[in-house]
Amino acid sequence: MDTIIQQDIKRIVAELNPFKEKIRNKSFLVTGGAGFIGSWFCDALVELGANVTCVDNFSNGSEEHINHLMQKGNFKFIQADVLSFTTDEIFDYIVHMASIASPLSFSELSIETLDANTLGTRRMLELAVKNKVKGFLFTSTSEVYGDPPDENIPTPETYYGYVNSYGPRATYDEGKRCAEAYCLAFRNRFNIPTRIVRIFNTYGPRLDTKQTSQYGRAMAKFIHQALKRVPLTVYGDGKQTRSFCYITDQVAGLLKLLLLPNLDGEVVNIGNDQEITILDLADKVIKITNSKSEKQFLPLPKDDPRRRCPDISKARKFLGFNPHVSLD
Ligand code: UDP
Repeated sequence: MDTIIQQDIKRIVAELNPFKEKIRNKSFLVTGGAGFIGSWFCDALVELGANVTCVDNFSNGSEEHINHLMQKGNFKFIQADVLSFTTDEIFDYIVHMASIASPLSFSELSIETLDANTLGTRRMLELAVKNKVKGFLFTSTSEVYGDPPDENIPTPETYYGYVNSYGPRATYDEGKRCAEAYCLAFRNRFNIPTRIVRIFNTYGPRLDTKQTSQYGRAMAKFIHQALKRVPLTVYGDGKQTRSFCYITDQVAGLLKLLLLPNLDGEVVNIGNDQEITILDLADKVIKITNSKSEKQFLPLPKDDPRRRCPDISKARKFLGFNPHVSLD
C-alpha cells in the first residue's frame, strides 16, 4: 500500500484510540466500502480490530481500493448491489455509503443513484431492524442544501435547502433527501439508532482513480491535469466556491459520529470550513505541482452550486471535531 495512505491510516487510528474498545471485535457492515471514503473507513475499522463486511458493486468503487484488505482475517468482501444483497450475518453497526457520488455520473447512472439511496437505504434500515443494531450511519451530503443563498453560507444543519427536484443533480440530491426521511421514519417507528452525516467535499488518495480523466471531481482532475501538463478545465468563471476536507479528518469525524454516546437521531455536517473559489484551487494546484498548465474555461454545468461551505459548529461541539489538515 502507498506509504502516504499507510501513514494517514495510522493518524486516523491514533485519533480513534479512545474508541478502540467500542470497535474491537464488533461487526460492521459497510455498503459502498470499495469507494473513496468507504475504503478509508474500512481501512480504519480493520486496523482498529473490527470485523468488517464490505459490500460494493464496483459501479463507483474499485477493487484497487480494497485489494490489500482481502488477506486480512477481519475483512470480508461481497461484490453485490445493495438492492439485491442478502445476508444471515448479524451486524452490530451498519454504515450505508453506497451511492454514485460524482456529479457527471448522476445523469448517466440516474436510476441506479436514486435506487441506491431510496430503496437501498430502506433495505439497509430493514436489516438494521432485524439485527437490532447499536448504530446506523447514513452518509448524506451537502447536496441536500442545493444552492444556498449567501445568508446561509456557512450552511448549518438547520437550513432546509434550495434544491431543484427536476434538474441534472436531482437523482443524487433528492435520493439523499429521501434517504434522510427514511432514516427518520425508521427511527420513529422502530427506534433505530440512526445518525446522519452530511458530507462536504472531501479529497485524498483514491478520489476518482477510475474516472479522473473524464468524470473526475475538480480536485482529482486538476491535479491529474497539472501533472500531465494539459489545461486545467475550470467550469464557468471559476468564482463558485467549495470547501475541501482531507480524508483523514473526514473518516475520523464519521467514526466519532457513529460511536459517541447520545447522538442517535442527530444530523451533523462534516467537512472543512475553509472556503475557496475553484479558480483559486486551480491556481494553487498549478503552483504546488510547479506545472506549466494553463487554465481552460468551459461552460458551467446546470445547477452547479455557487457557494458551498459547512457550518461545523455542531460537529465541533458534539464530536470535538476539528479538521487538522489544511488545504496546502
Ligand atoms: N469543476 C471544474 N472543472 C472540472 C470539474 C469540476 O471547474 O473539471 C467545478 C464544478 O463545476 C464545481 C466544482 O468544481 O463548481 C466542484 O465540482 P466537483 O465535481 O468536484 O464536485 P461538486 O462539489 O460539484 O459536487
